[in-house]
Amino acid sequence: MLESLLRTRGAFRPVIARESNLTEASVSRILSELRKENLVEEVRHPAPHVGGPTSLVTLRKDISVLGIELSNSRLSFGVGDLGGTLDYVERMPASPQLEQAEFETLFDASLSAMRGWAKTRGITVRQAAMSMPGYGRDAGNPIFPWDVERLRGFLAEALQDIPLALTNSVVAQTAFHRYSSTTPYQVAGDHLFLFVGHGVAGVIVNEAAPIDAFSAFEIGHMVIERDGLACRCGHKGCVEAYTSLRAVSKIIGVSDSEILTKGDRFLEVVGMDSIAREMLRERQFLLGLALGNALNLHPVSTVVISGWPSLMPEEDRAAITDGLNQSLLGGYDERRLTLSFIEPSIGNDPSAALHYAAYCFVRGGGMDAKADPRAAMEEIA
Ligand SMILES: [Zn+2]
Repeated sequence: MLESLLRTRGAFRPVIARESNLTEASVSRILSELRKENLVEEVRHPAPHVGGPTSLVTLRKDISVLGIELSNSRLSFGVGDLGGTLDYVERMPASPQLEQAEFETLFDASLSAMRGWAKTRGITVRQAAMSMPGYGRDAGNPIFPWDVERLRGFLAEALQDIPLALTNSVVAQTAFHRYSSTTPYQVAGDHLFLFVGHGVAGVIVNEAAPIDAFSAFEIGHMVIERDGLACRCGHKGCVEAYTSLRAVSKIIGVSDSEILTKGDRFLEVVGMDSIAREMLRERQFLLGLALGNALNLHPVSTVVISGWPSLMPEEDRAAITDGLNQSLLGGYDERRLTLSFIEPSIGNDPSAALHYAAYCFVRGGGMDAKADPRAAMEEIA
């Protein structure tokens, strides 16, 4: 129920009952529990139809969560509400080659600044989430080749009373797109969500599965050119080396930090000459080629792309389908593969981690750190 309220940003009781397959009496009982826990509130709202319900159930706005992202060559901390509104943001430059010890120093400084801010306002952070690229592989993290046990131990010690969920950047991006009000994204059924940003990664989204069950689909490190451009993973010729924001920044002659300040409209702002545009078309072709290969290994019928290609003119994006056509078994056929583009969220870190933290908070039943979430959920059920 909490997850549904997070996704819908508020619902009337009959809708909640229908969505959760509960009777209205059960919904009432659960809501009174949740109100007692200060998790939900009901506000007067115009009825959706004459004689309809007038009391809208929403998550409370005064619950604070913390999002931490290691992305876009910076470490960002943000505190905000469950709806994703950031009240506090601090971003510190962090090299892509950041050493683990440097990270720890940077993290401690950012955390104590955040704690100072929260303390003066009397804010208690109920849940934290941190996302980083490359996280979650058994073989270790190829992007930040750190000791994972040391990382987990360090974070647990540093955050103490704040429960933390650590995840891959693309999983946090999925949470952002599922729960953000600014990019409502309605795709029914299982699909591949492909994020083309500083890194290039995807997740297979199963609408019925919890987001934390997803794992990254590392299409970005598929080698498409033998002895090609150097990639940050140490290999040459990876998709990421051709299609990430850093690769694009070289083509359009704008530094990646400048792209971040320009945000989602950076291509319009900086403009493109015909040579750059042609190169970007070629890069989209390569992305399509890799995507087709990935779909041969893991077929899905819907792909949603978020990233700079979403900002390109539609006729240029046709290069992606040209690429798909040359690698996907049977070729590209729009009746068998639905490809859609959604607005990227460039440079808004740590919004994705904040939404993931909100998700983790409601998934745990909104219980405080020391409570056992499973016991709490059984009690509510
Ligand atoms: Zn690579």
